[in-house]
Amino acid sequence: MKKYNLIVVGGGISGVAAAVSAARDGLSVLLVEGSGNLGGAMSNSLVYPFMGFSLDDENDNVVKLLSAGIFTEMRERHKKYSVDGNDNYEWYKMVFDDMVTEAGVDVLFHSTVFDVKKKDDKITGVSIACKSGVLEIEADFFVDATGDGDVIALAGCEFVNGRESDGLSQPMTTCFRMINVDIPLFIKELPMIQAKFKELRENGTIKNPRENLLLFDLICEGVLHFNSTRVVGKNPVDAFEKSKAEIEARRQIYEIFWFLRKYSKAFTKSDVISIANHIGVRESRKLQGVHVITADELLNCVDFEDSIALGNYCIDIHNPSGTGTTIKHIPKDKYYKIPYRALLPKEYTNLLVAGRCVSSTHEAHSAIRILPICACMGEAAGTAVAIAHNTNTNAHTVDVKKLQESLVNKGAAL
Ligand SMILES: Cc1cc2nc3c(=O)[nH]c(=O)nc-3n(C[C@H](O)[C@H](O)[C@H](O)COP(=O)(O)OP(=O)(O)OC[C@H]3O[C@@H](n4cnc5c(N)ncnc54)[C@H](O)[C@@H]3O)c2cc1C
Repeated sequence: MKKYNLIVVGGGISGVAAAVSAARDGLSVLLVEGSGNLGGAMSNSLVYPFMGFSLDDENDNVVKLLSAGIFTEMRERHKKYSVDGNDNYEWYKMVFDDMVTEAGVDVLFHSTVFDVKKKDDKITGVSIACKSGVLEIEADFFVDATGDGDVIALAGCEFVNGRESDGLSQPMTTCFRMINVDIPLFIKELPMIQAKFKELRENGTIKNPRENLLLFDLICEGVLHFNSTRVVGKNPVDAFEKSKAEIEARRQIYEIFWFLRKYSKAFTKSDVISIANHIGVRESRKLQGVHVITADELLNCVDFEDSIALGNYCIDIHNPSGTGTTIKHIPKDKYYKIPYRALLPKEYTNLLVAGRCVSSTHEAHSAIRILPICACMGEAAGTAVAIAHNTNTNAHTVDVKKLQESLVNKGAAL
C-alpha cells in the first residue's frame, strides 16, 4: 500500500483547503471523506451562507478581507458555475472536485477512518472502513478535519465535548429548503409569521424550541433556505443520540412546513424541495491543544505572533438547552487572530487539526467555527505540513514565520 506524505481526514471546507494547499506545495496527499462529496456541512447539511469574512465600512464596502487566500479562490471558482446571479452552494461540490483533481490529491469517498496507529509522539497510519473492506494506510503527517475531532479522539488527545460546565453542545439543526415561495409577499408577511411562530411556541402548539424562524432567500428564485430546526440535549458524537436527533429534526421540518402553509399566503403553492442528508452539528469535540482559544482573547482581539487566520464573526451561541441565542460582538472596526498553536495537539508532533475541532473553549468556538475561518485554518494546516515536511521539522518545530510568509504569498490575509 502506498505511503503518503499527508493524510487529511474529512473533506469539509477545512479538509479540502488543507489537502489542496499541501498538494500544491508538492506533497502526496490522501483525502479521506465519509460521504460521497466534498464540502462537509456545506454539502451534506446544506449550511448556507458564508458568515462574515471582511471588515466593512458603514456603507457595507469591504475595507479589508479577513478570510482570503484559498477561500477567495473558492468563491471565485464558484462564480464560474453560478447562473442568473444565484448564490447556489450546490455548485461548491464541483468547485471542490475541480480543486482536488487539479492539485493531484487522491480522494477516497464513502470511507471512514475508525482507528489510528501510533508510535511515541507520532501517528503512523489510519484504518479506513470502505466498500473495499478495511484499508490500512500510512503517512508522515495527518490533519484531523473531521469536524467532530474523530482522529484526535481515536489518538487519545485531550479534548472537550460540548461546553465545559455540563458537556452540552450547541443544538443540532437540519436545514431544509422550500420552493415556489412568493418571496415579495413573504417579506411583507415576515413580522406576522415570526409573531405567530412565537405565540404557538409559547402556548406549546409548536414543539421546536427555537425562538424564531431563521431563513435566507438568495439561493434561487422562489426558494427559501431554513436554518430553523433545533435539537437540544443530544450528544452529536453518541451514535444513538445523533440518530434520534435526525428523526426529531425532520419532525420539526414537517411542523414548520404546515405552520407556514396554514398562516402565510406566500406559501400557498410551496413545497419542501430539499432536506439535508445529515443533521448539522455546530459543536462537539474540541481539541485542548498547545493553545486553547478563549472568548476573552477574541473579544479583546489579542495580537498573536503566530497568527494564521483572521476573523470578526461574533460569539454566537445557540442555546444548548432550549430557547434563545447569545451574541457578543467583536469591537467595531477590529478583528481577532487565530494562533497556529491552536491547530496543534500536545501529544503528537505530526498531527494537526483544522476547522471545527480547533482548540478552543465552548464560547470562543461559537465564533471561529464559521466556514470562511475553517477554510483559512485548513490552508494554514496544509501549508504548515508542507513546510515541515520539506524542512525536516515537525508540526511543533516548523518555522512559523516561514509559514506566515508562505500563506501571504498564497494570498491569505494575516
Ligand atoms: C446548522 C448549522 C448552521 C451553520 N451556519 C453557518 C453559516 O450560516 N455560515 C457559516 O459560515 N458557518 C455556519 N456553520 C458552521 C460551519 O458550517 C461549520 O463549522 C463548518 O462546516 C466546519 O467545517 P469543517 O471542514 O471543520 O467540518 P465539516 O464541514 O463538518 O466537514 C467534516 C467532514 O469530515 C467527514 N468526516 C467526519 N468524520 C470522519 C471520519 N471518521 N472519516 C472520514 N470522514 C469523516 C464528514 O463527512 C465531513 O464531510 C453552521 C453549522 C451548522 C451545523
